Amino acid sequence: MKVLVPVKRVIDFNVAVRVKADRSGVDLTNVKMSINPFDEIAVEEAVRQKEKGKVTEIIAVSIGPAAAQETLRTALAIGADRAILVKHDGDLEPLAVAKILKSVCTAEQPRLVILGKQAIDDDCNQTGQMLAALLGWPQGTFAAQLELGPDKASVTREVDGGLQTVELTLPAVITTDLRLNEPRYASLPNIMKARKKPIIEKSVADYGVDPAPRLKVLEVTAPEKRRSGMRVGSAAELVGKLREKGII
Ligand code: AMP
Repeated sequence: MKVLVPVKRVIDFNVAVRVKADRSGVDLTNVKMSINPFDEIAVEEAVRQKEKGKVTEIIAVSIGPAAAQETLRTALAIGADRAILVKHDGDLEPLAVAKILKSVCTAEQPRLVILGKQAIDDDCNQTGQMLAALLGWPQGTFAAQLELGPDKASVTREVDGGLQTVELTLPAVITTDLRLNEPRYASLPNIMKARKKPIIEKSVADYGVDPAPRLKVLEVTAPEKRRSGMRVGSAAELVGKLREKGII
């Protein structure tokens, strides 16, 4: 079974994000970039399924600038077999990404696509759902557990108040939640091996997709700084303060 894993290059989750002075977006100069954490979980899951003998080949795909090669090398070091870089400079919205991924699926014919549930830069949480709709494939979003059979996938999802298990007929689209697994650290030999694994370069035009954004960002602002709290001596004082501030 072939599995496709889309991986996005995003600002590293440890970096404190700076908003540009003109409020047009986030400042990316000299900022550490990494693989989107949910996508790392997706690659790990594909590798675990391969280790169980359920998957034969893992293809990582990234749509982004030339530097997204590094993101693909990370996926290859975790255990993906080969990679596709669809080169694109500038912003891309989930619909354009989903359309490109649909064309990649038509060319590669995977039985399963495992994406992250969301990219931590734009927090859209849309691409997997849009891809499933465009392909007409079933989807299991926010997977916390995955059982793969030859024709079916069973996905356990965390929902309010418990767990929900859905059965999907393959081919299908799955998106990963945080609890699905804990990705391994790529070992040095695997990092070295990853350097020799193939990365094919493509362009957005190769897939006949118009990447122009349909939304206009009006303004990006940093969240308000957290104000310091105050200590109260008793429950009665707390109630008094809340009344004073019109909260109750
Ligand atoms: P989003 O809908 O933007 O929150 O992204 C959800 C998931 O779609 C990510 O976790 C990735 O698996 C995939 N994805 C989004 N953008 C890209 C991209 N430019 N290249 C590869 N995969 C992407």
